Amino acid sequence: MSPTPPSSAQPPSEGRSERSHERRSLIPPIFQTASFTFGSAAELAAFHGGEEDGTYFYGRYGNPTQAAAEARLARLEGAEASLLYASGMAAVSSVFLALLAPEARLLILGESYRHTRDVTEKLLARYGVRYALAESEAPAALGEAARGGVRLLFAEVPSNPTLRVPDIGRLAEWARARGARLVVDATIASPALLRPLEHGADLALHSATKYLSGHNDVLAGAASGPRELVDALREQQALLGGILAPQSAFLLDRGMKTLALRVERQSQTALCLAEFLGGSPQVARVHYPGLSSHPDHATARRLMPAFGGLLSFELRGGPAAADRLVDALRVPVLAPGFGGTESQVEHHARMAYADLGLEGAQARGVAPGLIRYSVGLEDFEVLRDDLREGLGKI
Ligand SMILES: *Cc1c(COP(=O)(O)O)cnc(C)c1O
Repeated sequence: MSPTPPSSAQPPSEGRSERSHERRSLIPPIFQTASFTFGSAAELAAFHGGEEDGTYFYGRYGNPTQAAAEARLARLEGAEASLLYASGMAAVSSVFLALLAPEARLLILGESYRHTRDVTEKLLARYGVRYALAESEAPAALGEAARGGVRLLFAEVPSNPTLRVPDIGRLAEWARARGARLVVDATIASPALLRPLEHGADLALHSATKYLSGHNDVLAGAASGPRELVDALREQQALLGGILAPQSAFLLDRGMKTLALRVERQSQTALCLAEFLGGSPQVARVHYPGLSSHPDHATARRLMPAFGGLLSFELRGGPAAADRLVDALRVPVLAPGFGGTESQVEHHARMAYADLGLEGAQARGVAPGLIRYSVGLEDFEVLRDDLREGLGKI
């Protein structure tokens, strides 16, 4: 056994001096304050004159707890800068608002988180932003979708819920050749497994609610990229107001410390479960990029050292069997979301597309009966035995 720990996920560590904070506190304190004070009119004038570095003014423009979490995320992403938001959707919608304009065209690649598509159809359309879906990363499909032009190419990598992994490098080249930007939502991988900026993306987005914070106890979002672009987003955030609260920033910062360990373990367990499910007679199909049967296995192996804690599968018994399985399982909770320490399971269309029904979900590309399983930190054997028993009951 090699004594070297896996190199995949550890960010370059911060220096010793950066690990000491106000009053020599080891941990960055929670600055639970809306405003910061000035000792005098002269101090205020110096602040406005830009003479006072490292001072704060009003919470909507920044807070030291938020800054500490942003610095950690930037290290994890290998980014010049990161900006945190009140939720993943605040990050997605703010980036769309920043990079698009009336008549500008957004191209969404393949499947994506439902509300990312909804924000374009229900909100941006009202402001004259046009959008198209590209069926796949094949040049013909991209070319077809971009016939009316393209300002922004948006890809979720891996995608929700069948975990497709397009080649980010090629997408970046394709976008650059057309004067467009590439934004990658890498929520499902987390920066422990995938750093889109290294492959040429202009921005990496996250719902930090998921793996980054990792404990199902905070809502947060993030955008990382070149300083100039992130600074522009920060200026816009001061107007839109979707800032992360100090308490949430603290929880996120704490969660990110164990990101690499959690995701490594969740990836190991998920791969074992995917293999187990693949061999189960009740299972028709397993979607997990770590399996050689997955259409993007080769790309995923090139981009990622492991394949993450989220998997999905379809049952031979269809939607009725999926409903029964969700009820039969004893360990994973039935709850929306993923990426926490507790395993979570859902019949995806019933959880995320209840208003559209199974047919409406299918029209959006979500197979009726598809089960999405987020692997937590429980032992593999416990999760496997639970699945074996549950599958035996359907
Ligand atoms: C959850 C999620 C979002 C939205 O994030 P919230 O924190 O719930 O607002 C966006 N993209 C992906 C891929 C997600 O899984």
